[in-house]
Amino acid sequence: MTFEAYGRLIALGPPTYRFTDELPERAMLLRHDIDDRPRWIEPMSRIEAEQGKVATYCLQVRTPFYALDDEADRAVAALLDDGHELGLHFDSSRMASDDEVLEGVEREATLLEQRYDTPIRVVSFHMPGVRPVGHLDLGDRVNTYAPRFFTEISYLSDSNQNWRGKDPEHELRTAGRIQFLTHPTLWSGRPLREILEEQAARLGTSVEDLATDDQKAVLEMQAHHP
Ligand SMILES: [Zn+2]
Repeated sequence: MTFEAYGRLIALGPPTYRFTDELPERAMLLRHDIDDRPRWIEPMSRIEAEQGKVATYCLQVRTPFYALDDEADRAVAALLDDGHELGLHFDSSRMASDDEVLEGVEREATLLEQRYDTPIRVVSFHMPGVRPVGHLDLGDRVNTYAPRFFTEISYLSDSNQNWRGKDPEHELRTAGRIQFLTHPTLWSGRPLREILEEQAARLGTSVEDLATDDQKAVLEMQAHHP
């Protein structure tokens, strides 16, 4: 999976929009969750901008995989310069209550707003399967897993380079309203094993210890069908 292939894919979809309540009949919401180094944001952002498309890049504040350092600052500057929007990617998976999640979202969104001097309207949750998030009302901010952006429209994700049996070209070509989630690092031209090897080396661990069960299943699949 390459950035060029990503560009060909999104060219098939409906026109892009920002996350908003007023979506026309045909609308594509491009969302990126940043779970790996921010360096992969820029090539993706540029490909979208070349097509006049708009996307939302959701950045984490606390993650072992990267920091809000010079690399992140450069990536955010580039995506804002390309006309995209910055959002928050929030890990609620180990939190005990909705109140704790809402407080955390507010704290981290405010931190991003102050650091990058841009409004944070959009919030996506990391590992949303671990603890339900779709019902959370974030006030002025948008929850990308609210039913109107998730279950009530089409939804497509590149999770761990696995389309879950879906044909992304067909999905995008035939979509009315669709949210399309992609992770820039997965399009950097490397199979998942190489991506995880680089992450493991950086974190001083092994792919065996780092990979989630889902990632291990994809590694197994890619080993048999490279
Ligand atoms: Zn994530």
